[in-house]
Amino acid sequence: MSAQQPYSFFQSVERSFNKAAKFTKWEQGILEQIKACNSVYQMRFPVKRDNGTIEVIEAYRVQHSQHKSPCKGGIRFSDEVNQDEVMALASLMTYKCAIVNVPFGGGKGGIKINPKNYSVYELEKITRRYTSELVKKNFIGPGIDVPAPDYGTGEREMSWIVDTYSSLKPGEIDAAGCVTGKPVSQGGVRGRKGATGLGVFYGIREVCMMEDVMKKLGLSTGVKNKTVVVQGLGNVGYHSSKYFREGGAKVIALAEYEGAIMNPDGLNEEEVFQHRKTTGSILNFPGATNLANSSDALELECDILIPAALENVINGENAPRVKAKIVGEAANGPCTPEADEVFLKKGILCVPDMYLNAGGVTVSYFEWLKNLSHVRYGRLEKRFAENQNTELLQQIETLTGKTVNEKERKFILQGPDEIDLVQSGLEESMITATREIMAVWNSNPEIPDMRTAAYVSAINKVATSYAELGIFP
Ligand code: NAD
Repeated sequence: MSAQQPYSFFQSVERSFNKAAKFTKWEQGILEQIKACNSVYQMRFPVKRDNGTIEVIEAYRVQHSQHKSPCKGGIRFSDEVNQDEVMALASLMTYKCAIVNVPFGGGKGGIKINPKNYSVYELEKITRRYTSELVKKNFIGPGIDVPAPDYGTGEREMSWIVDTYSSLKPGEIDAAGCVTGKPVSQGGVRGRKGATGLGVFYGIREVCMMEDVMKKLGLSTGVKNKTVVVQGLGNVGYHSSKYFREGGAKVIALAEYEGAIMNPDGLNEEEVFQHRKTTGSILNFPGATNLANSSDALELECDILIPAALENVINGENAPRVKAKIVGEAANGPCTPEADEVFLKKGILCVPDMYLNAGGVTVSYFEWLKNLSHVRYGRLEKRFAENQNTELLQQIETLTGKTVNEKERKFILQGPDEIDLVQSGLEESMITATREIMAVWNSNPEIPDMRTAAYVSAINKVATSYAELGIFP
């Protein structure tokens, strides 16, 4: 809470929830149960620093909802971590999972440290101790609560967690499913890294396929030849740009914190990434024009604007100058409530973060399923599918007397690999979620925007599952 922001993060999530709850039929008691954080575990433990001193570490794990098991949500290492933030992020995870039909409750964890101030050895000790504290209180496990990476954590920390968990639970056959975001060698799944960016592309592509929505925005259907501006060339921004370019759109501008570049003929994200790696800046990319300020990119004339860097970058001040027809929230919280109001007045469609950037958690779900089934995706069906396709193509060629070219033959014959199945599962999840949110929005003209429709969709699903559990007779 601050003078500028009179609500804590958790309270602001509750406010968004309340705004959407008005458009549902559920009684107040059910709504209160959905909003509440079911379990909050606040812990302190000591760690011996490399210099011999002892430091007390503050850490949290919150399980917002157990309407489905296990709970799911990342672990954040940041000196900004506090209980309110972890509770807010855990509740957002409940709604995000519900929207994309991932059968988990929401969870989140945090350790209040700046990882840059600790050696790798110290970080390993902290991560392992945190895991053992979770084990002691039964706050982690493939059927209980499954963490994942978040700010300041990655594959390395997930490997320490699975190793600590497995050693404390000898013989637990599904131990690998106690955490996701692991390296492939430790039970991770192929396709996790690019999943959020790919999910952003699938979500926006589905919106662009909706004729009525495009008509209202004055756009043609499909993403082909649409102009796209992306802010942030990190994991999410890079992969969003890549999939939009491969899908036939034109990424006309890219922005990083040191500046932005523009080329109306389109930019190739990999070339820009390599240029930035070599020169230390996105600026002066061959063939592109530099923009005076990085944030100017947000105000360019384009069809689709993808903020994929930080929160609050589009607000009451600059939203009136946004010229995009669609804003796709790839980052978490890039548009403020004031920006939402401006978009509403200007007829800009804002596709909300809670659903659009759910690709990561969707693929985490696939990783967990892989761990429980103890088999790589595609291992059982790949050769069978290839043999079947070969036979089928042979029959067709014999019957028609025509043959396909080598490129087509390769595509038709190949059986699915793990990455193919993961990506097609993600595509299915994003398409279904988009259609469900749009159906909710279309069912009630009073629902003001897609963000509220997404919340309504989430509330209906969680409430239905509570009602079906028989908790509220
Ligand atoms: P990242 O650190 O890989 O990338 C962020 C990029 O934004 C960096 O390249 C950084 O230099 C750039 N940036 C910072 N300040 C900027 C500014 N003022 N203008 C332009 N660019 C700026 O992080 P990420 O994993 O890509 O995450 C980006 C956003 O997406 C965050 O809000 C994150 O919470 C959200 N998100 C990420 C995932 C995921 O799977 N990685 C999933 C869901 C949501």
